[in-house]
Amino acid sequence: MMGDLPLAFSNAVTAVLGLIFGSFANVVIARLPEGKSVVRPGSHCPNCKKSIAWYDNIPLLSYLALGAKCRGCGKKISLRYPVVEAMMALLFLAAKVRFGWDLLFFIRDIPFLFILVVITFIDLDHRIIPDELSIGGLVLGLATTWAVPDLGWIQSVAGAAVGFGLFYGLAWSYQKYKGRMGLGGGDIKLLAMLGAFLGVQGVFTTILISSIAGTLIGILWAVATRQKNLMTSAIPFGPFLVIGGLYYYFFGDSLWLPFMTQT
Ligand SMILES: [Zn+2]
Repeated sequence: MMGDLPLAFSNAVTAVLGLIFGSFANVVIARLPEGKSVVRPGSHCPNCKKSIAWYDNIPLLSYLALGAKCRGCGKKISLRYPVVEAMMALLFLAAKVRFGWDLLFFIRDIPFLFILVVITFIDLDHRIIPDELSIGGLVLGLATTWAVPDLGWIQSVAGAAVGFGLFYGLAWSYQKYKGRMGLGGGDIKLLAMLGAFLGVQGVFTTILISSIAGTLIGILWAVATRQKNLMTSAIPFGPFLVIGGLYYYFFGDSLWLPFMTQT
């Protein structure tokens, strides 16, 4: 069926699909935290409120054709929009090349990647991770495990439980000893979601990679903004969990494999 299409064609379709989902992701990123409908009204300029015609709303191309300016008021269009669209297209393409293009790609991989990109930018903007995304993703991860025999539902449930338990325990002890919140509730639910998709080992790899990435970026951030205390320069942790989760998703246990196959 779909697998028989020429490779270049199926890759192009995947990339276009990524751009369309990326365009929708921009809508969700802007509206979900404000409790607005992601369906109605149609896209409009955040500055002049004028609705955007379909030909001015084509992912990437319209941004370039309009010279990054609103046709109505001339206000600059944020680079964020094409970046999210391009990012989504690249992730879809990478997943398709890595895992192939079957039913699972559409019911599991596409929603997984979509949710992670949306979470990243909402957390960067608002320091929150909406439950619709994390809990919704958790449910989807558990519900589609039947189609991933390599993972299995026991791994999926255990991954979610370990992810939730570890971060809940960590947040609890941090608050107990430091008297303030380190990890947010959103981070705990996001790690549970990643556990449902990636299993127990995925949770540990996600924590490892996100901690390394978070520390590196944290140091760079502290230097760039001349912060004395690393811990007070609160950067949202969600995007780093996404980086860690995507690392495991794409590269699996290849990080550990050299050490674990010496039997
Ligand atoms: Zn405008």
